[in-house]
Amino acid sequence: MSYEIFRQGLDAPICLTWEITYACNLHCVHCLSSSGKRRPDELTTAEAKRLIDEWAEMKVFYINVGGGEPMSRKDFRELMDYALTRSIGVKFSTNGALIDDDAAAWIASRDYLDVQISLDGATSATNDPVRGDGSYDRARQAMERLAKHRFPFKINTTVTRHNYPQLDELYALSQRYGAGLRLTRLRPPVAAARCSKRCVRPTPKTADCTSGC
Ligand code: SF4
Repeated sequence: MSYEIFRQGLDAPICLTWEITYACNLHCVHCLSSSGKRRPDELTTAEAKRLIDEWAEMKVFYINVGGGEPMSRKDFRELMDYALTRSIGVKFSTNGALIDDDAAAWIASRDYLDVQISLDGATSATNDPVRGDGSYDRARQAMERLAKHRFPFKINTTVTRHNYPQLDELYALSQRYGAGLRLTRLRPPVAAARCSKRCVRPTPKTADCTSGC
């Protein structure tokens, strides 16, 4: 094969990141997008499908879908199925709270659908101060449901000063489910107010940080 084809580059991105909504049922202190409430100008179902059509025509390989909590959109499954039928692979990130038995069965029944569930500690004592009370248990329930279907999800952990001593435990947890473990670096939230209440930057030098992350 001629290398000329590589020199020309690609006509479209291999993947796109799509923050599909700002609505979220959690209020994590380190939330990159400061999510919470749905914005009034978010895309309608028809508009979102037109966007997917454009990506399909460009031959985008796959999309990374996040938010907010993407599953909080009522048309979430409809849009993901639409992308899949247009031959666009889907990866989405969720806190897992909305993965009930029905959602787990839907996820497991789809090809080219990847899921990562956020968990920021191997115990609720480490996770919940960052992601909110009960968030650890809900994420673990989602993992149990997907594991019942033998679905190979990923656990996504944002490394903080509180959870880095638990990385081995988090890896062991992922192995128990036959899952992968993805580590994400902490990035500054859009609005640092949440983070400044409880600094989670993973360096001891910032122990007195009050200016947000
Ligand atoms: S679950 Fe995700 S989008 Fe929601 S507040 Fe937490 S980090 Fe932000």
